[in-house]
Amino acid sequence: MFTSKEYDKYYNSPTWDKHTNERLKQIDPKMRDDARAMINELYEKYGIKLRIGHEVFRSVEEQDKLFLKGRDPVTKEVINQNEVVTSAPGGASMHNYRLAFDLLEIINDNGESKIKSFDRKKVLKIAFKYGFRWGGYFSGTKYDPPHFERTYGFHWSVIKKKALSQKTKYINLFK
Ligand SMILES: [Zn+2]
Repeated sequence: MFTSKEYDKYYNSPTWDKHTNERLKQIDPKMRDDARAMINELYEKYGIKLRIGHEVFRSVEEQDKLFLKGRDPVTKEVINQNEVVTSAPGGASMHNYRLAFDLLEIINDNGESKIKSFDRKKVLKIAFKYGFRWGGYFSGTKYDPPHFERTYGFHWSVIKKKALSQKTKYINLFK
């Protein structure tokens, strides 16, 4: 648990990064504050500067297009492994529902920003505390270390059904 000072610092303060502060607005409000708090806590405790990748939201149609890269358009079988970007068809990615974000660590090197993969031990410890699932645990072609998400215990096909029937920006998972 947090002290009230910590809570305020993590939850009610913008992150170190203006891009991240903008991109947080694309995340579903159900998990937006926790994503901000996680990034703030990692910066406060370890000085780790995490940035949310530019693509928080991806439509089901965009996801379908990505899915077809390297695949046969009819059978959906992989025909060129090097071109495969994702194993999630439209609706199977939590990005389709604003329930996912990707994280990169920013390193300042002589005033230039460099991106590297983050310190997993520290980042995951904090991320799991906030209840995020990590894409680095996904198997096979789904393996995706920058990726964090929540599914709230639902299979993606159930979330897709709710999204299709509700047609709202954010899904009510309990309706
Ligand atoms: Zn992702």
